[in-house]
Amino acid sequence: GMNFKGLLRRNWLLIATIISVLLGISLGVVVREYASLSNLHKQYFGFPGEILMRMLKLVILPLIISSMITGVAALDSEVSGKIGLRAVIYYFSTTIIAVILGIILVMTIKPGVSQTADHIDRAGTTPNVTTVDTLLDLVRNMFPENLVQACFQQYKTKRKELEPPRTSSNINATTTTIPPLTTTLVSVVENITKEYKIVGSYSDGINVLGLIVFCVAFGLVIGKMGEKGRILLEFFDALNEATMKLVQIIMCYMPVGILFLIAAKIIEVEDWEIFKKMGLYMVTVLSGLAIHATICLPLIYFIIVRKNPFTFTLGMAQALVTALMISSSSATLPVTFRCAEENNRIDKRITRFVLPVGATINMDGTALYEAVAAIFIAQLNDYDLDVGQIVTISITATVASIGAAGVPNAGLVTMVIVLTAVGLPASDVTLIVAVDWLLDRFRTMINVLGDAYGAGIVQKLSKRELERMDLTSDVDVANP
Ligand code: ASP
Repeated sequence: GMNFKGLLRRNWLLIATIISVLLGISLGVVVREYASLSNLHKQYFGFPGEILMRMLKLVILPLIISSMITGVAALDSEVSGKIGLRAVIYYFSTTIIAVILGIILVMTIKPGVSQTADHIDRAGTTPNVTTVDTLLDLVRNMFPENLVQACFQQYKTKRKELEPPRTSSNINATTTTIPPLTTTLVSVVENITKEYKIVGSYSDGINVLGLIVFCVAFGLVIGKMGEKGRILLEFFDALNEATMKLVQIIMCYMPVGILFLIAAKIIEVEDWEIFKKMGLYMVTVLSGLAIHATICLPLIYFIIVRKNPFTFTLGMAQALVTALMISSSSATLPVTFRCAEENNRIDKRITRFVLPVGATINMDGTALYEAVAAIFIAQLNDYDLDVGQIVTISITATVASIGAAGVPNAGLVTMVIVLTAVGLPASDVTLIVAVDWLLDRFRTMINVLGDAYGAGIVQKLSKRELERMDLTSDVDVANP
Protein backbone atom coordinates (compact mmCIF):
# COMPACT_ATOMS: atom_id res chain seq x y z
CA GLY A 1 0.00 0.00 0.00
CA MET A 2 0.98 3.63 0.59
CA ASN A 3 3.64 2.69 3.06
CA PHE A 4 5.46 0.42 0.71
CA LYS A 5 5.38 3.00 -2.08
CA GLY A 6 6.68 5.64 0.28
CA LEU A 7 9.47 3.33 1.38
CA LEU A 8 10.41 2.74 -2.24
CA ARG A 9 10.40 6.42 -3.08
CA ARG A 10 12.52 7.39 -0.10
CA ASN A 11 15.05 4.62 -0.65
CA TRP A 12 15.11 4.24 -4.40
CA LEU A 13 18.82 4.96 -4.64
CA LEU A 14 19.72 2.42 -2.00
CA ILE A 15 17.48 -0.17 -3.62
CA ALA A 16 18.94 0.57 -7.06
CA THR A 17 22.46 0.30 -5.64
CA ILE A 18 21.80 -3.05 -4.02
CA ILE A 19 20.18 -4.38 -7.19
CA SER A 20 23.18 -3.19 -9.19
CA VAL A 21 25.54 -4.98 -6.80
CA LEU A 22 23.64 -8.22 -7.37
CA LEU A 23 23.44 -7.67 -11.12
CA GLY A 24 27.14 -6.81 -11.23
CA ILE A 25 28.09 -9.99 -9.40
CA SER A 26 25.94 -12.13 -11.72
CA LEU A 27 27.27 -10.36 -14.80
CA GLY A 28 30.82 -10.90 -13.59
CA VAL A 29 30.27 -14.58 -12.95
CA VAL A 30 28.58 -15.12 -16.32
CA VAL A 31 31.23 -13.26 -18.32
CA ARG A 32 33.96 -15.05 -16.43
CA GLU A 33 32.43 -18.44 -17.24
CA TYR A 34 31.39 -17.98 -20.82
CA ALA A 35 33.49 -15.28 -22.41
CA SER A 36 37.24 -15.19 -22.48
CA LEU A 37 38.07 -11.53 -22.50
CA SER A 38 41.51 -10.25 -23.34
CA ASN A 39 43.17 -8.09 -20.72
CA LEU A 40 42.42 -5.03 -22.75
CA HIS A 41 38.73 -5.88 -22.90
CA LYS A 42 38.71 -6.52 -19.17
CA GLN A 43 39.89 -2.96 -18.75
CA TYR A 44 37.17 -1.62 -21.01
CA PHE A 45 34.67 -3.56 -18.97
CA GLY A 46 35.57 -1.68 -15.83
CA PHE A 47 35.39 1.71 -17.52
CA PRO A 48 31.99 2.90 -16.21
CA GLY A 49 33.20 2.02 -12.72
CA GLU A 50 36.40 3.92 -13.25
CA ILE A 51 34.37 7.00 -14.12
CA LEU A 52 32.39 6.69 -10.88
CA MET A 53 35.62 6.54 -8.89
CA ARG A 54 36.96 9.59 -10.67
CA MET A 55 33.83 11.59 -9.94
CA LEU A 56 33.82 10.66 -6.27
CA LYS A 57 37.49 11.52 -5.90
CA LEU A 58 36.86 14.80 -7.70
CA VAL A 59 34.59 16.15 -4.98
CA ILE A 60 36.80 15.12 -2.05
CA LEU A 61 38.93 18.25 -2.22
CA PRO A 62 36.22 20.95 -2.21
CA LEU A 63 34.22 18.88 0.25
CA ILE A 64 36.98 18.52 2.83
CA ILE A 65 38.09 22.13 2.57
CA SER A 66 34.63 23.67 2.75
CA SER A 67 33.31 21.37 5.44
CA MET A 68 36.31 21.65 7.74
CA ILE A 69 36.60 25.43 7.52
CA THR A 70 32.92 26.11 8.06
CA GLY A 71 32.71 23.35 10.64
CA VAL A 72 35.41 24.94 12.76
CA ALA A 73 34.50 28.58 12.12
CA ALA A 74 30.86 28.05 13.07
CA LEU A 75 31.90 27.01 16.56
CA ASP A 76 33.81 29.18 18.95
CA SER A 77 37.27 27.90 19.66
CA GLU A 78 36.40 26.64 23.12
CA VAL A 79 33.51 24.56 21.79
CA SER A 80 35.45 23.20 18.83
CA GLY A 81 38.26 22.26 21.18
CA LYS A 82 35.83 20.30 23.33
CA ILE A 83 34.23 18.60 20.33
CA GLY A 84 37.63 17.77 18.88
CA LEU A 85 38.76 16.25 22.15
CA ARG A 86 35.62 14.12 22.42
CA ALA A 87 36.09 12.94 18.85
CA VAL A 88 39.69 11.96 19.46
CA ILE A 89 38.77 10.09 22.65
CA TYR A 90 36.06 8.24 20.70
CA TYR A 91 38.45 7.41 17.82
CA PHE A 92 41.06 6.04 20.18
CA SER A 93 38.84 4.00 22.44
CA THR A 94 36.90 2.33 19.63
CA THR A 95 40.10 1.55 17.74
CA ILE A 96 41.59 -0.09 20.83
CA ILE A 97 38.39 -2.07 21.38
CA ALA A 98 38.58 -3.29 17.77
CA VAL A 99 42.21 -4.33 18.19
CA ILE A 100 41.52 -6.23 21.40
CA LEU A 101 38.53 -7.95 19.81
CA GLY A 102 40.69 -9.00 16.86
CA ILE A 103 43.41 -10.36 19.12
CA ILE A 104 40.94 -12.37 21.21
CA LEU A 105 39.42 -13.90 18.08
CA VAL A 106 42.67 -14.80 16.34
CA MET A 107 44.06 -16.35 19.52
CA THR A 108 40.92 -18.43 19.94
CA ILE A 109 40.29 -19.48 16.35
CA LYS A 110 44.02 -19.92 15.59
CA PRO A 111 43.61 -19.80 11.78
CA GLY A 112 47.35 -20.16 11.14
CA VAL A 113 48.21 -22.97 13.54
CA SER A 114 47.19 -25.93 11.39
CA GLN A 115 49.21 -24.79 8.39
CA THR A 116 52.67 -23.49 7.76
CA ALA A 117 53.77 -20.47 5.83
CA ASP A 118 55.21 -22.67 3.10
CA HIS A 119 51.79 -23.99 2.19
CA ILE A 120 50.84 -20.57 1.05
CA ASP A 121 52.95 -19.15 -1.72
CA ARG A 122 55.58 -16.95 -0.27
CA ALA A 123 57.33 -14.36 -2.32
CA GLY A 124 60.52 -12.81 -1.16
CA THR A 125 60.62 -9.07 -1.15
CA THR A 126 61.27 -6.93 1.85
CA PRO A 127 59.39 -3.68 1.73
CA ASN A 128 61.22 -1.20 3.89
CA VAL A 129 58.72 0.86 5.80
CA THR A 130 59.56 1.44 9.45
CA THR A 131 57.53 2.71 12.38
CA VAL A 132 59.67 5.80 12.78
CA ASP A 133 59.42 6.63 9.08
CA THR A 134 55.68 6.29 9.22
CA LEU A 135 55.30 8.48 12.27
CA LEU A 136 57.63 11.12 10.87
CA ASP A 137 55.80 11.06 7.55
CA LEU A 138 52.52 11.43 9.37
CA VAL A 139 53.65 14.51 11.25
CA ARG A 140 55.47 15.92 8.23
CA ASN A 141 52.29 15.62 6.20
CA MET A 142 50.41 17.62 8.82
CA PHE A 143 52.46 20.63 7.85
CA PRO A 144 52.41 20.96 4.08
CA GLU A 145 54.93 23.48 2.87
CA ASN A 146 52.75 24.56 0.00
CA LEU A 147 49.00 24.69 0.12
CA VAL A 148 48.40 24.25 -3.59
CA GLN A 149 50.83 21.38 -3.72
CA ALA A 150 49.04 19.70 -0.83
CA CYS A 151 45.95 19.57 -3.01
CA PHE A 152 47.46 17.53 -5.77
CA GLN A 153 51.11 16.70 -5.65
CA GLN A 154 52.56 13.64 -4.14
CA TYR A 155 54.96 13.88 -1.31
CA LYS A 156 58.56 13.08 -2.09
CA THR A 157 60.69 11.21 0.38
CA LYS A 158 64.37 10.58 -0.10
CA ARG A 159 63.60 6.98 -0.82
CA LYS A 160 61.43 7.89 -3.73
CA GLU A 161 64.41 8.91 -5.78
CA LEU A 162 65.64 5.35 -5.62
CA GLU A 163 62.61 4.16 -7.58
CA PRO A 164 62.64 4.12 -11.34
CA PRO A 165 60.25 6.73 -12.70
CA ARG A 166 56.84 5.39 -13.58
CA THR A 167 56.27 6.10 -17.21
CA SER A 168 53.25 5.27 -19.26
CA SER A 169 55.20 2.64 -21.16
CA ASN A 170 55.99 0.91 -17.85
CA ILE A 171 52.35 0.78 -16.99
CA ASN A 172 51.34 -0.57 -20.38
CA ALA A 173 53.97 -3.25 -20.18
CA THR A 174 52.56 -4.62 -16.96
CA THR A 175 48.95 -4.66 -18.05
CA THR A 176 49.35 -6.53 -21.31
CA THR A 177 51.13 -9.65 -20.06
CA ILE A 178 49.90 -12.11 -17.47
CA PRO A 179 52.71 -12.95 -15.05
CA PRO A 180 52.60 -16.13 -12.92
CA LEU A 181 51.07 -15.89 -9.47
CA THR A 182 54.25 -15.41 -7.48
CA THR A 183 55.44 -12.64 -9.73
CA THR A 184 52.05 -11.03 -9.43
CA LEU A 185 52.23 -11.12 -5.65
CA VAL A 186 55.68 -9.62 -5.61
CA SER A 187 54.74 -6.87 -7.99
CA VAL A 188 51.54 -6.11 -6.09
CA VAL A 189 53.47 -5.60 -2.88
CA GLU A 190 56.14 -3.64 -4.65
CA ASN A 191 53.59 -1.41 -6.23
CA ILE A 192 51.74 -0.86 -3.00
CA THR A 193 54.88 -0.08 -1.04
CA LYS A 194 56.17 2.14 -3.81
CA GLU A 195 52.94 4.05 -3.70
CA TYR A 196 52.99 4.10 0.07
CA LYS A 197 56.37 5.75 0.18
CA ILE A 198 54.99 8.67 -1.72
CA VAL A 199 51.49 8.44 -0.35
CA GLY A 200 51.81 8.37 3.45
CA SER A 201 48.58 9.91 4.62
CA TYR A 202 47.73 11.00 1.11
CA SER A 203 44.41 10.00 -0.42
CA ASP A 204 44.69 9.91 -4.17
CA GLY A 205 47.32 12.58 -4.29
CA ILE A 206 45.60 14.86 -1.80
CA ASN A 207 47.42 15.47 1.45
CA VAL A 208 44.23 15.17 3.49
CA LEU A 209 45.87 15.37 6.88
CA GLY A 210 47.81 18.48 5.90
CA LEU A 211 44.67 20.15 4.58
CA ILE A 212 42.73 19.24 7.71
CA VAL A 213 45.34 20.85 9.94
CA PHE A 214 45.37 23.96 7.77
CA CYS A 215 41.57 24.18 7.60
CA VAL A 216 41.21 23.84 11.36
CA ALA A 217 43.66 26.69 11.89
CA PHE A 218 42.09 28.77 9.14
CA GLY A 219 38.57 28.11 10.40
CA LEU A 220 39.51 29.08 13.94
CA VAL A 221 40.99 32.34 12.72
CA ILE A 222 37.96 33.16 10.55
CA GLY A 223 35.66 32.42 13.47
CA LYS A 224 37.52 34.94 15.61
CA MET A 225 37.52 37.70 12.99
CA GLY A 226 33.91 38.71 13.48
CA GLU A 227 32.34 40.89 10.78
CA LYS A 228 35.35 40.73 8.48
CA GLY A 229 35.57 36.97 8.61
CA ARG A 230 31.91 36.57 7.74
CA ILE A 231 32.41 36.93 4.02
CA LEU A 232 34.87 34.03 3.98
CA LEU A 233 32.62 31.94 6.15
CA GLU A 234 29.71 32.55 3.80
CA PHE A 235 31.89 31.75 0.81
CA PHE A 236 32.98 28.39 2.14
CA ASP A 237 29.47 27.63 3.32
CA ALA A 238 28.15 28.23 -0.20
CA LEU A 239 30.97 26.13 -1.62
CA ASN A 240 29.97 23.32 0.71
CA GLU A 241 26.35 23.48 -0.35
CA ALA A 242 27.25 23.53 -4.04
CA THR A 243 29.57 20.55 -3.60
CA MET A 244 26.87 18.58 -1.85
CA LYS A 245 24.52 19.30 -4.75
CA LEU A 246 27.16 17.84 -7.08
CA VAL A 247 27.41 14.81 -4.84
CA GLN A 248 23.67 14.34 -5.20
CA ILE A 249 24.04 14.24 -8.98
CA ILE A 250 26.98 11.85 -8.85
CA MET A 251 24.99 9.53 -6.63
CA CYS A 252 22.41 9.09 -9.38
CA TYR A 253 25.14 7.56 -11.51
CA MET A 254 26.27 5.34 -8.68
CA PRO A 255 24.21 2.20 -9.52
CA VAL A 256 25.65 2.10 -13.05
CA GLY A 257 29.21 2.64 -11.91
CA ILE A 258 28.97 0.08 -9.15
CA LEU A 259 27.51 -2.58 -11.43
CA PHE A 260 30.56 -2.47 -13.68
CA LEU A 261 33.01 -1.97 -10.85
CA ILE A 262 32.06 -5.23 -9.16
CA ALA A 263 31.60 -7.15 -12.42
CA ALA A 264 35.05 -6.12 -13.63
CA LYS A 265 36.59 -7.13 -10.31
CA ILE A 266 35.05 -10.60 -10.46
CA ILE A 267 36.27 -11.07 -14.02
CA GLU A 268 39.74 -9.90 -13.08
CA VAL A 269 40.48 -12.00 -9.95
CA GLU A 270 43.04 -14.60 -10.89
CA ASP A 271 43.07 -16.94 -7.97
CA TRP A 272 39.87 -18.08 -6.28
CA GLU A 273 41.52 -21.24 -4.93
CA ILE A 274 43.48 -19.21 -2.42
CA PHE A 275 40.22 -18.48 -0.61
CA LYS A 276 40.04 -22.13 0.42
CA LYS A 277 43.52 -22.10 1.90
CA MET A 278 42.91 -18.83 3.68
CA GLY A 279 39.33 -19.66 4.70
CA LEU A 280 39.78 -19.66 8.46
CA TYR A 281 41.85 -16.49 8.40
CA MET A 282 39.17 -14.72 6.43
CA VAL A 283 36.46 -16.03 8.75
CA THR A 284 38.42 -14.64 11.71
CA VAL A 285 38.77 -11.17 10.19
CA LEU A 286 35.19 -11.05 8.94
CA SER A 287 33.63 -12.26 12.18
CA GLY A 288 35.71 -9.72 14.11
CA LEU A 289 34.46 -6.95 11.84
CA ALA A 290 30.90 -8.22 12.16
CA ILE A 291 31.05 -8.32 15.95
CA HIS A 292 32.52 -4.84 16.09
CA ALA A 293 29.80 -3.49 13.80
CA THR A 294 26.81 -5.25 15.33
CA ILE A 295 27.75 -5.43 19.00
CA CYS A 296 30.60 -3.13 20.11
CA LEU A 297 29.74 0.07 18.26
CA PRO A 298 25.94 -0.26 18.69
CA LEU A 299 26.40 -0.93 22.42
CA ILE A 300 28.53 2.17 22.92
CA TYR A 301 26.02 4.18 20.89
CA PHE A 302 23.10 2.87 22.88
CA ILE A 303 24.75 3.50 26.23
CA ILE A 304 25.57 7.10 25.33
CA VAL A 305 22.84 8.19 22.91
CA ARG A 306 19.97 5.99 24.16
CA LYS A 307 18.53 5.53 20.69
CA ASN A 308 18.17 2.45 18.50
CA PRO A 309 21.62 1.82 16.99
CA PHE A 310 20.29 -0.38 14.22
CA THR A 311 18.08 2.37 12.86
CA PHE A 312 21.27 4.40 12.81
CA THR A 313 23.17 1.70 10.92
CA LEU A 314 20.30 1.37 8.43
CA GLY A 315 20.45 5.12 7.84
CA MET A 316 24.08 4.69 6.79
CA ALA A 317 23.29 1.81 4.40
CA GLN A 318 24.07 3.73 1.21
CA ALA A 319 27.50 4.73 2.54
CA LEU A 320 28.20 1.20 3.74
CA VAL A 321 27.43 -0.36 0.37
CA THR A 322 29.55 2.30 -1.32
CA ALA A 323 32.49 1.59 0.99
CA LEU A 324 32.12 -2.13 0.32
CA MET A 325 32.23 -1.51 -3.40
CA ILE A 326 35.05 1.01 -3.65
CA SER A 327 37.30 0.12 -0.66
CA SER A 328 38.09 3.71 0.17
CA SER A 329 36.86 5.71 3.14
CA SER A 330 37.98 8.96 1.53
CA ALA A 331 36.11 8.39 -1.70
CA THR A 332 33.05 7.30 0.31
CA LEU A 333 33.14 10.50 2.36
CA PRO A 334 30.61 12.42 0.21
CA VAL A 335 28.07 9.63 0.67
CA THR A 336 28.87 9.32 4.38
CA PHE A 337 28.04 13.02 4.75
CA ARG A 338 24.72 12.68 3.01
CA CYS A 339 23.60 9.65 4.99
CA ALA A 340 24.67 11.10 8.32
CA GLU A 341 23.00 14.46 7.70
CA GLU A 342 19.89 13.47 5.75
CA ASN A 343 18.97 10.10 7.23
CA ASN A 344 20.42 10.24 10.71
CA ARG A 345 19.87 13.97 11.17
CA ILE A 346 23.27 14.65 12.67
CA ASP A 347 24.04 18.32 13.15
CA LYS A 348 26.17 19.75 10.33
CA ARG A 349 28.43 21.44 12.86
CA ILE A 350 29.35 17.95 14.07
CA THR A 351 29.59 16.06 10.78
CA ARG A 352 31.74 18.72 9.15
CA PHE A 353 34.21 18.27 11.89
CA VAL A 354 34.05 14.60 12.85
CA LEU A 355 33.60 12.87 9.46
CA PRO A 356 36.59 14.18 7.44
CA VAL A 357 38.97 13.66 10.34
CA GLY A 358 37.47 10.25 11.03
CA ALA A 359 37.83 9.16 7.41
CA THR A 360 41.53 9.90 7.67
CA ILE A 361 42.54 8.67 11.10
CA ASN A 362 39.71 6.59 12.60
CA MET A 363 39.90 3.09 11.14
CA ASP A 364 38.50 0.46 13.48
CA GLY A 365 38.24 -2.14 10.73
CA THR A 366 41.83 -1.63 9.61
CA ALA A 367 43.15 -1.80 13.18
CA LEU A 368 41.30 -5.05 13.85
CA TYR A 369 42.51 -6.48 10.57
CA GLU A 370 46.15 -5.57 11.21
CA ALA A 371 46.17 -7.23 14.62
CA VAL A 372 44.55 -10.41 13.29
CA ALA A 373 46.82 -10.57 10.25
CA ALA A 374 50.02 -10.08 12.28
CA ILE A 375 49.15 -12.84 14.72
CA PHE A 376 48.01 -15.08 11.85
CA ILE A 377 51.41 -14.67 10.23
CA ALA A 378 53.11 -15.44 13.53
CA GLN A 379 51.03 -18.63 13.78
CA LEU A 380 51.98 -19.64 10.24
CA ASN A 381 55.63 -19.26 11.16
CA ASP A 382 55.28 -21.24 14.43
CA TYR A 383 56.39 -18.12 16.18
CA ASP A 384 55.35 -17.85 19.81
CA LEU A 385 54.38 -14.37 20.88
CA ASP A 386 54.85 -13.33 24.49
CA VAL A 387 52.61 -10.86 26.30
CA GLY A 388 54.94 -7.97 25.52
CA GLN A 389 54.79 -8.71 21.84
CA ILE A 390 51.03 -8.89 21.90
CA VAL A 391 50.89 -5.48 23.56
CA THR A 392 53.32 -4.25 20.91
CA ILE A 393 51.00 -5.58 18.23
CA SER A 394 48.02 -3.73 19.76
CA ILE A 395 49.91 -0.47 19.85
CA THR A 396 51.46 -0.73 16.40
CA ALA A 397 48.17 -1.89 14.87
CA THR A 398 46.57 1.26 16.24
CA VAL A 399 49.37 3.45 14.89
CA ALA A 400 49.24 1.62 11.56
CA SER A 401 45.51 2.22 11.25
CA ILE A 402 45.94 5.93 11.96
CA GLY A 403 48.79 6.13 9.47
CA ALA A 404 46.88 4.34 6.72
CA ALA A 405 45.27 6.62 4.18
CA GLY A 406 41.63 6.08 3.28
CA VAL A 407 42.49 4.48 -0.05
CA PRO A 408 42.29 0.86 -1.23
CA ASN A 409 44.81 -1.56 0.34
CA ALA A 410 46.46 1.11 2.48
CA GLY A 411 46.15 -1.13 5.54
CA LEU A 412 48.06 -3.90 3.86
CA VAL A 413 51.04 -1.63 3.49
CA THR A 414 51.10 -0.21 6.99
CA MET A 415 50.92 -3.87 8.10
CA VAL A 416 54.68 -3.91 7.62
CA ILE A 417 55.06 -1.69 10.69
CA VAL A 418 53.29 -4.24 12.87
CA LEU A 419 55.32 -7.16 11.54
CA THR A 420 58.70 -5.53 11.92
CA ALA A 421 57.86 -4.32 15.43
CA VAL A 422 57.62 -7.90 16.70
CA GLY A 423 60.42 -9.30 14.58
CA LEU A 424 58.36 -11.06 11.93
CA PRO A 425 59.65 -10.88 8.34
CA ALA A 426 58.06 -7.90 6.62
CA SER A 427 58.08 -9.82 3.37
CA ASP A 428 55.41 -12.12 4.84
CA VAL A 429 52.87 -9.48 3.89
CA THR A 430 52.89 -11.32 0.58
CA LEU A 431 51.13 -14.23 2.30
CA ILE A 432 47.96 -12.23 2.72
CA VAL A 433 48.05 -10.08 -0.41
CA ALA A 434 45.92 -12.38 -2.54
CA VAL A 435 42.83 -12.09 -0.35
CA ASP A 436 43.26 -8.47 0.58
CA TRP A 437 41.01 -7.05 -2.13
CA LEU A 438 38.08 -8.77 -0.42
CA LEU A 439 38.98 -8.08 3.21
CA ASP A 440 39.80 -4.47 2.32
CA ARG A 441 36.19 -3.91 1.27
CA PHE A 442 34.77 -5.15 4.54
CA ARG A 443 37.21 -3.32 6.78
CA THR A 444 36.58 -0.10 4.86
CA MET A 445 32.86 -0.58 5.50
CA ILE A 446 33.53 -0.86 9.24
CA ASN A 447 35.87 2.16 9.09
CA VAL A 448 33.04 4.22 7.63
CA LEU A 449 30.50 2.91 10.12
CA GLY A 450 32.85 3.82 12.97
CA ASP A 451 33.14 7.39 11.72
CA ALA A 452 29.36 7.71 11.46
CA TYR A 453 28.74 6.37 14.96
CA GLY A 454 31.43 8.77 16.13
CA ALA A 455 29.46 11.69 14.73
CA GLY A 456 26.27 10.47 16.43
CA ILE A 457 28.00 10.00 19.77
CA VAL A 458 29.94 13.28 19.71
CA GLN A 459 26.71 15.10 18.85
CA LYS A 460 25.00 13.66 21.89
CA LEU A 461 27.93 14.48 24.14
CA SER A 462 28.05 18.04 22.80
CA LYS A 463 24.33 18.67 23.04
CA ARG A 464 24.64 21.33 25.69
CA GLU A 465 27.20 23.40 23.81
CA LEU A 466 25.24 23.16 20.57
CA GLU A 467 22.01 24.28 22.22
CA ARG A 468 23.73 27.15 23.93
CA MET A 469 25.11 28.24 20.56
CA ASP A 470 21.67 28.05 18.97
CA LEU A 471 20.42 30.50 21.56
CA THR A 472 23.25 32.99 21.38
CA SER A 473 24.16 33.18 17.71
CA ASP A 474 22.12 35.41 15.42
CA VAL A 475 23.29 33.78 12.22
CA ASP A 476 23.35 30.05 11.90
CA VAL A 477 25.60 29.36 8.99
CA ALA A 478 25.77 25.66 9.54
CA ASN A 479 22.01 25.21 9.45
CA PRO A 480 20.46 27.87 7.24
N1 ASP B 1 40.83 0.84 2.38
C1 ASP B 1 40.75 1.25 3.75
C2 ASP B 1 39.99 2.54 3.87
O1 ASP B 1 39.92 3.31 2.96
C3 ASP B 1 42.08 1.39 4.39
C4 ASP B 1 42.69 0.05 4.51
O2 ASP B 1 43.29 -0.41 3.52
O3 ASP B 1 42.56 -0.57 5.56
O4 ASP B 1 39.43 2.82 4.89
